[in-house]
Order: sequence, then C-alpha cells, then structure tokens
Amino acid sequence: MPQGEICTRFVGGSLDGQTVENTSPMYLVDECVHETGYWYRSNSDGATMEKGGKRDSLWHSYAVEVYRKGDKDQYGYFVYSFIERRMIDRCQATTQKGTQCMREAAINLTFCKNHKSSILNG
Ligand SMILES: [Zn+2]
Repeated sequence: MPQGEICTRFVGGSLDGQTVENTSPMYLVDECVHETGYWYRSNSDGATMEKGGKRDSLWHSYAVEVYRKGDKDQYGYFVYSFIERRMIDRCQATTQKGTQCMREAAINLTFCKNHKSSILNG
C-alpha cells in the first residue's frame, strides 16, 4: 500500500480476515463496534431472532461484535482483534406518544442518554 494510507485488518469474530483500505483517521478508534445483523423482536407470542433487514418498531435488542485496536502488523495494517459479543438493549422509556423509545440504551443501562437525563432531572 502507498505510504501514509491508513488500513485496518480484523482478526477473529465474523470479520476475521477482512481489511479496510485507505480509511479515514476518524475511523481509527480504540474500540470498534460491528453490527452483526442479528436482532431480536418482541412479538405478542414471544421473541424471535431476525437476520438482516432494518430493525422495526418491535425491536428488543441486537448483537454487536467489539474489536479493539492493536499495533500495526508487518504490512502496515492496524490490527483490530475481536474482544467480545455484546447485546445492545432498547431504551425502556415510553415517549410522549405512548410508544417505546426507538433508541439504544447506553451500555449496561436501561435507558438511552436522553431519557436517562430526563429521568434524573425529574
Ligand atoms: Zn430513550
């Protein structure tokens, strides 16, 4: 690769072996989260697992893979190593329209950032 380009390579998880050429420095984060495409929907008769597609108004949670940035390998690629799979839960707050908030809850919390602060502030 030409000098000065930023390229990354993934190790482990479902992205194992994939590379990204000439990416922007803004993507060179310490932790990178990759959506697997699997998500869960709460139906009236129980939950189902969905693969792909857009999450609809009944989404419950979805799976992501977390990669952590390491050193450059001998070819100059920044290596991102698979750390763990996480479930991202949906915010449990109810909006003014009476429907459940569509946003993701913050890690290890029940509510998204907006609803967390509004609850804390009364
Ligand atoms: Zn919310």
